[in-house]
Amino acid sequence: MADMFDVVVIGGGPGGYSAAIRCAQKGARTAIVEKNIMGGTCLNVGCIPSKSLLASAHFLIQAKHAALMGLDLEGSFRPNWRKMVARKDAIVSGFTKGVTGLLQSNNVAIYNGTGVVTAPGKIRVSGAASAELEAKTIILATGSEPVNIGAFPFDYKTIISSTEALSLPSIPQSMVIIGGGVIGCEMACIYAAVGTKVTIIEALSQLLPNEDEWVAGLLEKEFKKLGITVQTSCKVTGVQTTGAGATVQLESGQSIACEKVLVAVGRRAKVDAETVKNLGLQMKGTAIAVNEKMQTSAAGVYAIGDAVATTYLAHGAFQEAQVAVANALGGDEKMTPQAYALIPRAVYSFPEVGSIGLTEKKARAMAIDCIVGKAPFRSNGRSVSHNETIGEIRVLRERASHKILGVNMVGASVTEMLAAARALIGSAESIDNVCFAHPTVSEVLKEAWEDAFGVSLHVPPTKK
Ligand SMILES: Cc1cc2nc3c(=O)[nH]c(=O)nc-3n(C[C@H](O)[C@H](O)[C@H](O)COP(=O)(O)OP(=O)(O)OC[C@H]3O[C@@H](n4cnc5c(N)ncnc54)[C@H](O)[C@@H]3O)c2cc1C
Repeated sequence: MADMFDVVVIGGGPGGYSAAIRCAQKGARTAIVEKNIMGGTCLNVGCIPSKSLLASAHFLIQAKHAALMGLDLEGSFRPNWRKMVARKDAIVSGFTKGVTGLLQSNNVAIYNGTGVVTAPGKIRVSGAASAELEAKTIILATGSEPVNIGAFPFDYKTIISSTEALSLPSIPQSMVIIGGGVIGCEMACIYAAVGTKVTIIEALSQLLPNEDEWVAGLLEKEFKKLGITVQTSCKVTGVQTTGAGATVQLESGQSIACEKVLVAVGRRAKVDAETVKNLGLQMKGTAIAVNEKMQTSAAGVYAIGDAVATTYLAHGAFQEAQVAVANALGGDEKMTPQAYALIPRAVYSFPEVGSIGLTEKKARAMAIDCIVGKAPFRSNGRSVSHNETIGEIRVLRERASHKILGVNMVGASVTEMLAAARALIGSAESIDNVCFAHPTVSEVLKEAWEDAFGVSLHVPPTKK
């Protein structure tokens, strides 16, 4: 006899667990099926563990600047990698238990095992707990996996993915990171801070290829100060593992010897093949094809998060989950291109990068006439006090409509200002009367907005 539900969610990552909690809160009898540890990539081997290690690494860099802050600290500072990883693991464990508790307290039934949709409305769970479930609605939130490249496949020891990089047994002497995207840049900062000789190889012409050239240029300059070597417009043709590590071959003929090779060239949607076959799901490559309501080609089946290969971001998965849940329970919500354009992009490198809406290069490509307002952190009182003066904020104003189309930021803690930046996007409303606390780093956002209108208080006017 099958267990009956209104909604069954397969996958307990940010997409799946948030969908399940919302469904239950809206009165639907809900179950979630997770084959691993609750929390998915984000909590176990993604957002949270990487930010925990980044926080330790940042602390170490700050401590090295103690003298600049007027502090005479005795002794030397060394990373204790084992303790850094243990701290990270404790943080992860706290959050994964927390999510399980949240699901339970919202009366979501939890099934530990692999969920396969055997027919419309029918799910088989196998593993630690075997069960047959039936549901009016199914939400697929099965996530993604690191892209494995044939020319240098993972051996998970020397040629590793971000998952292994988050839990290496010791600090490697040297590491080549293939891919200068978000994960590559964040990992480079962690390892450079703890003393690894890091080289990033990026095939395209800049780090973070989706961001503006000035953003990547500034990041590259700061990475150099951390001892990170960056080679852009440079392709890796192969990797040979050796007794001591590996040799990375470049298209240029050059080769680099290193202890570890981290392949960070992106992630790929992952969906159980049997489910795809049984439902006759329409696919887009390895991802599940969905419409704006997050509906798949099968009636009553929704898909969200990395499995649909839209944002590959936890907060993208959260947004899509809300839309899928609303529609599953009789609503009419959409993830339109405009909604996707408002999903913020955050990189927790040293310095951080935060952007939302259009970049300058995208505005140029779309032939939108924009005025760029700029404000640097070096003239902000709080930033100077904190010795965090690197970077700036740029606000893009459409010349004709006065609407703010994009905010692009590089600097310490800029990711914390993304929500405020979001409030500006699409609006021509003046923020002159919005009082920003002084001194706060966020005043730089107001300055950049003011500069876009030629009325900056603390930045000398420039001709726009
Ligand atoms: C190193 C790293 C750092 C990252 N940092 C950030 C960040 O700072 N900010 C950000 O927004 N994003 C970040 N991401 C991306 C983020 O982790 C993902 O976008 C997010 O986890 C996607 O959520 P999801 O729910 O779609 O999938 P996932 O989190 O991958 O969850 C899918 C879950 O489904 C389960 N599952 C799969 N198939 C089945 C099945 N058949 N039965 C039962 N269970 C199944 C899996 O075990 C998994 O737990 C990072 C990723 C990595 C790798």
